[in-house]
Amino acid sequence: MEIIIGREEGARRLHCIADGREFNVGAAGSVPTSVSRKHCRIVVLGEKMSIENLRDQNITYVDGNQVFSKSITSTSKVQLGSEKFAVPLQQILQLATGKPIASVNSSEKKPEPPTFSLRPMKSVWEEYNQKMLQIDIDNAKKQKEDKKKRNIQALCSSIGMLFVLVPDLGVMRYVLMGISALITVYIMFKGDDDDITVVKKNKLNEEYATKYKCPNPACGKPFGSVPYRSIEYNKQCFACGCKYTH
Ligand SMILES: [Zn+2]
Repeated sequence: MEIIIGREEGARRLHCIADGREFNVGAAGSVPTSVSRKHCRIVVLGEKMSIENLRDQNITYVDGNQVFSKSITSTSKVQLGSEKFAVPLQQILQLATGKPIASVNSSEKKPEPPTFSLRPMKSVWEEYNQKMLQIDIDNAKKQKEDKKKRNIQALCSSIGMLFVLVPDLGVMRYVLMGISALITVYIMFKGDDDDITVVKKNKLNEEYATKYKCPNPACGKPFGSVPYRSIEYNKQCFACGCKYTH
């Protein structure tokens, strides 16, 4: 932000232009003519602030010393012209920025980020991890069973083929062939759900996205499958910047 300070024409109040917005400060006739129409400029850049004389003929003092340009704070004593007209700096800053003085004071520290206890997430992670592991265990068991089923299936097909070769079975041949074929088909379709593991894991991830997350209620970014230990090690949320405690 740039604030140009000078003398108002006619009424001789202090005239300010803050980023193009004009306002006057003080009583009429209060500003001496040794203050130019555009006397000095104050530049506010983040937490830094500086003052700059706009013409060689202008006289600007900061804390009693004449300056051409100088970095200042909201508590600096700024005076203009040979009569050392005192500039109500804090009032001008407040009117220009619309903020309380403290926030434009360069000596102000940045507010500390909020802290939240990460501890409750430890048991949530353990629970999630345990459930994930159980899905894998179940899947391994199922694969074992599937292998058994495939063996039985192969056996049934073989028996069915044998009935073709056995002589003098008459109609029974077709009945027995039909039965072994039915068993084969039954085993083939029963429990043929390979992608159930993926579905289960997706469901679990969705469930824990609302439980295993940044403890800052204003943030709540899901941690996904990042282990608790890694998050504890980072000590901070990358999304909201809050700090984690134990
Ligand atoms: Zn967060």
